Parts: sequence; structure tokens; C-alpha cells
Amino acid sequence: MNPELSRRLPSIRSGAQTGPIGLYLHVPFCLDRCTYCSFATTRDRSLQPATIRRLVSETTAWGAALARPAVDTLYLGGGTPSLLSRAELEDLTVAIRAAFDLSPLVEATLEANPGTVDLAWLQQARDLGWDRISLGVQALDDTLLARLGRIHGSAQALESLELAARAGFRRRSADLMVGIPGQSLSKVVEDARTLVATGIDHLSIYLLDLDKACPLRAEIEAGRLTLPTEDEVADVFEALQEELPRLGLPPYEISNYARPGGASIHNTRYWERRPYLGLGPSAASQLGDFRWTETGVIAAWTEGRGELDLQELDAAEALAEIPLLGLRLHGGVDWSALQERAIALNLRPLCDGWEARLRAFAKEGLVLWEGDRVRLSARGMLMSNGILQMFV
Ligand code: SF4
Repeated sequence: MNPELSRRLPSIRSGAQTGPIGLYLHVPFCLDRCTYCSFATTRDRSLQPATIRRLVSETTAWGAALARPAVDTLYLGGGTPSLLSRAELEDLTVAIRAAFDLSPLVEATLEANPGTVDLAWLQQARDLGWDRISLGVQALDDTLLARLGRIHGSAQALESLELAARAGFRRRSADLMVGIPGQSLSKVVEDARTLVATGIDHLSIYLLDLDKACPLRAEIEAGRLTLPTEDEVADVFEALQEELPRLGLPPYEISNYARPGGASIHNTRYWERRPYLGLGPSAASQLGDFRWTETGVIAAWTEGRGELDLQELDAAEALAEIPLLGLRLHGGVDWSALQERAIALNLRPLCDGWEARLRAFAKEGLVLWEGDRVRLSARGMLMSNGILQMFV
């Protein structure tokens, strides 16, 4: 364990004992690198056996350090966790079960990419207790998928969803990306319809993010590709906001739509600021007053030389995160509970300042007050960055 964390272990441990935590494991390997990717992932599969051994030993060590805390959600993310061999997936799952108390477990999600799963692997994952799968589909247009550098075509994406259903994954999610050069509004809506028709219970809609240097951004900067305009992108989000509830998947968060009961319980814990432990080269954790993120250097992490960015949140920062994250949820935030908390922390003026600004946004129809709760309107969800900025 990192020495900085060891020193703070008593406080971190008590944070893990306040109720069930979420456990996230990061598998940082991909077959190829997508042209837009800025995640900590590598094509160098020679590192995989040692990295997974390290993930297993970290799982065991953290379970012991936190006195075998209760875990109610598991998430195996990537990278591409479906690149794990069957033996590696089993080793990891067995280590998790041994190190943590999974008696309250309500959800165990694994991420997968089309083109890397077969029926036997999926069936084994189900047998090991993974009950929800999230597939990175991104688009159902082979030209766009090639532009994104995805390793799969649209037919393979649909086939993977079908295989997951045959393997017994009743809870299946797909990702769709908006803002890809050359993508048309009508095609995104058509893709969403096609995906919903496969019986998925959850759909995540992401905006293509090119903040960091990557090959796709270089193509755009060189003038060889053109991004859709902000208005075009907003039109797509608006069209999906209308269409997906009609198809039975209302929004429960800015970027996420689900059938009733289909919301991701693990991801919801981030927006509700419930505690989680992340293990792996770029995983993030929040336990007690501390939050830390591994810096993403895979080889260093694997050799036990990983560095991390550790933050101790002060009372005002922790308070601000409640509306910053909670307003992403369709159900919004219990404002009177937030006020009570602010009073207890001597932070009432801070909370009153936010309220004044939210009430101004309400006059523009971007924020809704409903009894004690405050939430973003559909239009507010489209303009959330500008609204949530006040809490940063
Ligand atoms: S699959 Fe995901 S993590 Fe892997 S290269 Fe593509 S975008 Fe990056």
C-alpha cells in the first residue's frame, strides 16, 4: 500500500465501515487504441499477467487493511475487461470474494468491448456471479466506427449484445457516442432505437471528448475532418431526450437512460457521494475524508511503484460536491437536507449563495424546485456545465 495511504489508514478504514462500499477494479488493456482515447490503457499485453497478479494481491491486501468491509456493488472497468482470460477473471473474482464481504451485493457489472467476447467467456462470467454487462458500442455505422478506431463493426456490436443475452445477462447496457465527425442526427436516433430493440435495459449517451491530444483531434486540427457544431450536438441530445422515454428508457442522469429498475447502482453511488474503493493503475477511491486517484502509469503500478494524487476534502469542498454531483441525477438534490448540513458546518452563507443562483436559473426554466428538492429541467440538463460550474 502507498505510504501516504498507510498513514491515513485509520480514517480510511472508518470510512469503509460506515456502510457497504462500492469496489471498482481497473483492467488497463485494449486490443488496439481508439483514435479518441485518452484513458490509461495499453496494447502491450505482455504486461497483462503481472498486472492482473498485482490486482489480485491489491484486492487481498485492501480487504485485509479495511477489515473485510461489506461491498454492495462491484464494477470491473477498463480498458477492456473482456480481454481477461477465463483463468484471470476467475482469479480476480475469487480474490474479491475472499477479501470482501459480498453478502449485501446487489450488482456486479463488467465492461466489455464487441469483438472480444464469445459465448463461453460470457457464460463463465455469469457463472462467477457477474450479472450486468456494459458494452462499448459507440455507433452502429461502420464508417464512423472505423473513424473512431474501434476494433469492431456494427454487426459485431449487435452480435455481442445478443451473446450476452444468451449467456444469461438480463441486465445489459450499451454506450452511444454523440459528436463524431460525419454523424447525422437521424442516424444517432436510429441507432438508439436499434439498440433499445435488442432488449437492453440501460443506455449511456456520451459526448465525444477531445480535450486531450489524440489522433482524431489531430485529424480535425489538420482540417481533414469536421466536428458537428454545438447546435447540431444539442439537437441530437434533445432528440434523444424525447425519443428514449418514448421507448421506455427515461433519463435518470444527464448521460444515462434506463428502463425502470435498470439504473446502474454502482455509478449512482458516485453521484450520491457514497464511498468506493478503486484498485488498478488509474482507479479512483473515496473513503472517509479522503479521495485519491492512481496516476495511470501502468508498468509502475504493476511493479508497486504507482503514484497517486491524494486529496483531503475540507468541509466546504465536500458540501459543494453534493449538488455538483447530485444535480446530475434526474431526481436532483434534497435542498433542505443540504441546508441543514450547511448550518451544522457553519457554511450557511455558501449554501445561500448557491440557492440564489439556482433560483435565477429557475427563472430561465433551467432549474426546477419541487418541494424540498431541486433538479435540472430537460433544458438544464443540456446546459448543465454552465450551471454546475458554481460548485467547482
Ligand atoms: S476501448 Fe476504451 S479504453 Fe480501450 S482504447 Fe478504446 S476508448 Fe480507450
